[in-house]
Amino acid sequence: MSNSKVSFLESVNSFFDKAAPHTGLPAGLLEQIRVCNAVYRIKFPVKMGNEVKVIEAYRVQHSHHRTPTKGGIRFDMGVNQDEVMALATLMSYKCAIVDVPFGGAKGGIKVDPKKLSTSQLERVTRRYTTELIRRNFIGPAIDVPAPDYGSGPKQMAWIYDTYRAFHPEDLNAAGVVTGKPVTQQGIRGRTEATGRGVFYGIREACESTKDMKELGLTPGIAGKRVVVQGLGNVGSFSATISQEEGDALIVGVVEYEGAIYKKDGIDVKKLLKVRKETGSILNYPDVDTKLEQKDRNKGLEFDCDILIPAALENQITVDNAKNIKAKIIAEAANGPITAAAEVILDKKGILIIPDVYLNAGGVTVSYFEWLKNLSHMRFGRMNKRFNQRQFDLILGQVEGLTGKNVNARDRKVIARGADEIDLVRSGLEETMINSYIEIRELKKRKKKIDNMRTAAFVTALQKISSDYLAMGIFP
Ligand code: NAD
Repeated sequence: MSNSKVSFLESVNSFFDKAAPHTGLPAGLLEQIRVCNAVYRIKFPVKMGNEVKVIEAYRVQHSHHRTPTKGGIRFDMGVNQDEVMALATLMSYKCAIVDVPFGGAKGGIKVDPKKLSTSQLERVTRRYTTELIRRNFIGPAIDVPAPDYGSGPKQMAWIYDTYRAFHPEDLNAAGVVTGKPVTQQGIRGRTEATGRGVFYGIREACESTKDMKELGLTPGIAGKRVVVQGLGNVGSFSATISQEEGDALIVGVVEYEGAIYKKDGIDVKKLLKVRKETGSILNYPDVDTKLEQKDRNKGLEFDCDILIPAALENQITVDNAKNIKAKIIAEAANGPITAAAEVILDKKGILIIPDVYLNAGGVTVSYFEWLKNLSHMRFGRMNKRFNQRQFDLILGQVEGLTGKNVNARDRKVIARGADEIDLVRSGLEETMINSYIEIRELKKRKKKIDNMRTAAFVTALQKISSDYLAMGIFP
């Protein structure tokens, strides 16, 4: 197998193998952490028009060191066992890194969701859920799916409804799946969560004057030139939030139909509108460079400070790694850089913010949603008004002492109790900042750890191993 053809799973496991020696853990324990605990492969029939199609699907539970296991379901024609195993593996490490108390899992259904009608998609999703229920592969305490590439809130609502029909006695049934619509027991801020987490992670990385100096950059995300690949859920929120809240300059976008570059910056919201109305980013006006579909991947080589691959795995390989101009690669997608490509990028001195940390915002807010479902109450419901009144009283005291009145607009901002969305964003921000600092400090402390990915994997292995050691099986 040539280097550019190394499978996604082999790539993930080679990252593991690189990190393992830094942990000092016994071989048997490392092997237990590395392997996928359970792989379920299903083929089931679904009626499509006058025909019956046999659908191939998977659910992989990588690690049961904590339960439930957790991970999205991918709807894509490229789905295969190796890919789902790789994604499930990443989920275990991801959850450990951001201190979300789940084992890793992932699902995959081999369909092209764009080619199915809504009712066909619903039949596929409900049947898949039924197959998981049949094998006890799903449940609020067993395994909790979420959206991934090609799926979203709609599918999650069908999964919840199917599970509830089979388990009407389960008081916690809403906790069977996350990423549900807010009206169907979802949580505010889940849809944007992965992209928002990507923004918090990049912003934190750019905060370090020392790290930025090593890259020849100034500190801070503001003004950094960014190229994004993939304007789906993760890419579009990463780009819009980086632009609106971080003042980053989005200079390039790479999508399925082609790529565009504009050195003065692209208005991402306007671009999303153009794409929705015309079906292509190539219709965005006044760009400096336009690449047709066949050349789109050249867009990854656009001149920029930060490259955000937010589409699929294996996008940066030994074939194009040497041409990448970005100083920072922020892995919003899972596995966009192969292990062999990373060696080249490391030599070029590029800072890679690894997927296993950077796109953990989705599972973090999924955890909040699951907690909300188990508590049967919206965050903020008990204390919002109380806090609002307390802040109002304090303001009144300050006004009395200073003799100055706070204007109505400022009062609204200061004397305000937190809503669910405020708490979700605050919890996500706290998680992404703390986890970045933890990984960075480990890397700085242990000189032999070569990059942020290895540091992230070491962090994950240490946390997972402590659960296994507490079980008393390993010496
Ligand atoms: P999505 O389906 O919403 O969007 C993917 C986008 O990538 C689409 O717009 C698609 O047209 C585009 N795309 C596909 N192939 C491309 C190519 N060759 N070049 C350029 N663009 C291409 O998917 P998503 O949920 O945003 O997931 C994207 C990545 O993020 C995946 O790797 C997924 O595993 C990962 N991820 C997603 C979540 C989540 O919460 N959705 C969480 C963690 C990680």
